Amino acid sequence: MIRRPPAARRSAFSLMEMLAVVTILGVLAALIVPRFTGQAKAARKNACDVNRGNIEVQCQLWYRNKGAWPAAALSDIGADPKYFPDRIPACPVDSTAYTIDRSTGRVVGHSH
Ligand SMILES: [Zn+2]
Repeated sequence: MIRRPPAARRSAFSLMEMLAVVTILGVLAALIVPRFTGQAKAARKNACDVNRGNIEVQCQLWYRNKGAWPAAALSDIGADPKYFPDRIPACPVDSTAYTIDRSTGRVVGHSH
């Protein structure tokens, strides 16, 4: 009877085992990663919607107090800490600044 020498005894993972593990991890990553990135995108879109709502409400308050809409680029209302103590945020989706339509007081664009 032939016995293997001790040096040839199996002591670590074989190549096939490592390939199986890497393949399983790759499949799991392919399933999980898009789910998280999709949620992050939806969260940024929701944050943009909230920003638009807040800006429009503050513009309506400005209109009631001053009798005119703020500047289209929101430079005047954005500099007033009574309306925006933390400054006007940029869009979390595309990092652009918000502007309003001075005939309606509504935020222009940002229908992501
Ligand atoms: Zn936006």
